[in-house]
Amino acid sequence: MTATDHDILTGTTERHLVPLDGASSLLVHAQVVEPLAELQTLAASQGFDLRVCSGFRSFDRQMIIWNEKVKGIRSTLDHDGRSLSLDSLNAWQKIQAIMRWSALPGASRHHWGTDMDIYDAAAMPEGYQIQLTPDEVQGAGIFSPMHNWLDSALMADNSALGFYRPYGKDRGGVAPERWHISYAPLADIYAQRLSSEVIAQQLRGTDLLLLDEVVTRLNEIVERFVRV
Ligand SMILES: [Zn+2]
Repeated sequence: MTATDHDILTGTTERHLVPLDGASSLLVHAQVVEPLAELQTLAASQGFDLRVCSGFRSFDRQMIIWNEKVKGIRSTLDHDGRSLSLDSLNAWQKIQAIMRWSALPGASRHHWGTDMDIYDAAAMPEGYQIQLTPDEVQGAGIFSPMHNWLDSALMADNSALGFYRPYGKDRGGVAPERWHISYAPLADIYAQRLSSEVIAQQLRGTDLLLLDEVVTRLNEIVERFVRV
């Protein structure tokens, strides 16, 4: 890793990535493929079909999501995962509401290829559409059994597997996303290197909506939503 890895940190390159399975458009960090396969094998031994529904996401893709949320084209969710209107909110309130569930472009852990959203294909009825909502992964949710097993597996053998849940607890910033796991040996390095300066440099001159407010509040944003 060198000082020129700012493109990896901010999702503006694909040079660190490989397709997860064959021709799939699902990309992950090349060094995550093997540990992920080990995790899947371990899950399979317990009857779970652990699969990835989202891996790498680019800066451009994340900016489309962000801008659509600001414009209200794409819905923003409240703390319980229900739709929330941003109409009556000021710029800073909008940013905080969006960042509860969506990363700031340039600061998404999905840029790194080390982080992924997972589900249990073995638990899905035919034709089931994955939602990635709290209801799916807690209580009687269909993916709960796999996540309950995963909690104990990661706790029992954390160092060997290397995966952990960066959004496992609600610390007041990003909502707990039980479906999101991260490969710590790489992600920890990227997380350390991602600074307000790197993000600001990437955002400057883009068409990001609410850009001025984001830049003004960047240190606070990084503190609350990026350093998890
Ligand atoms: Zn995620």
